[in-house]
Amino acid sequence: MSNLIEEKVTSVHHWTDNLFTFTTTRSPTFRYENGHFTMIGLMVEGKPLLRAYSVASPNYNEELEFFSIKVPNGPLTSRLQHLKVGDGVLVGKKASGTLVVDNLTPGKRLYLLSTGTGLAPFMSLIRDPAVYEKYETVVLTHTCRTVGELAYQQLITEELPNDEFLGEEVKAKLRYYPTVTREHYKTQGRITDLITSGKLAADLGLPELNAEEDRVMLCGSPEMLTDTQALLEARGFTMGRASAPGTFVIEKAFVGSAED
Ligand SMILES: Cc1cc2nc3c(=O)[nH]c(=O)nc-3n(C[C@H](O)[C@H](O)[C@H](O)COP(=O)(O)OP(=O)(O)OC[C@H]3O[C@@H](n4cnc5c(N)ncnc54)[C@H](O)[C@@H]3O)c2cc1C
Repeated sequence: MSNLIEEKVTSVHHWTDNLFTFTTTRSPTFRYENGHFTMIGLMVEGKPLLRAYSVASPNYNEELEFFSIKVPNGPLTSRLQHLKVGDGVLVGKKASGTLVVDNLTPGKRLYLLSTGTGLAPFMSLIRDPAVYEKYETVVLTHTCRTVGELAYQQLITEELPNDEFLGEEVKAKLRYYPTVTREHYKTQGRITDLITSGKLAADLGLPELNAEEDRVMLCGSPEMLTDTQALLEARGFTMGRASAPGTFVIEKAFVGSAED
């Protein structure tokens, strides 16, 4: 347990039958970069049951926030979804990950492309003032199957633009582009199709995604990552990491099972 801290749940919000967000207390010793993930979990039969989770809250917040799936019969999430205020949650003492701005070479625009709970690390990054200092425009896309799964819309479109500290930067620079694949919605379709067809660029009034000016972070399903990586590499983007920054970086939103 020495690599874990027990935090207390301070709030729980269920978005849909399969998605929820919860916040916890934060030990002052837990440090992370916006975009990082850590291990979280619960004690099950006397042992810690842990899974990787992106931290959705920005690193200046006093509390930690996590955005979670509820996998039917999932070892952790079938339990985690019943969390109540005051319950204990184990949080790893270390955080890491590739979705950090220093892993990208300088650019004009930052694209944060997500599906499902892949939005989580970007909820931390879009609340990071350093991101707005580095980029002229920050585009956040979130693709889900249904409209109900487009979590955090109110925070992104109403609360952040009116935030006391970040509001002006957000209003000037953040472009939010939610899309849905299995229901009618103002913007429909997979992000790869929307990039390839030119619709994303046209809707945003921005140039086509290009490696000279744009930097991209990807977090989503294994399929979305494979397809988007191929699309980016065909356009001359190169994958970045801490030792060698590039023009895009990738993080899995989850590790797929054989059936995915
Ligand atoms: C780097 C990293 C960061 C992650 N961040 C998050 C996060 O912020 N929020 C989150 O909910 N999960 C996140 N995950 C996934 C998480 O680690 C667990 O897999 C998830 O909580 C389910 O746990 P489980 O024990 O219930 O089921 P598991 O046995 O872990 O998963 C069972 C199956 O459920 C599916 N699945 C798992 N997670 C997801 C998901 N997030 N979305 C859609 N399908 C999924 C997969 O098919 C998987 O094989 C992350 C994974 C990685 C590798």
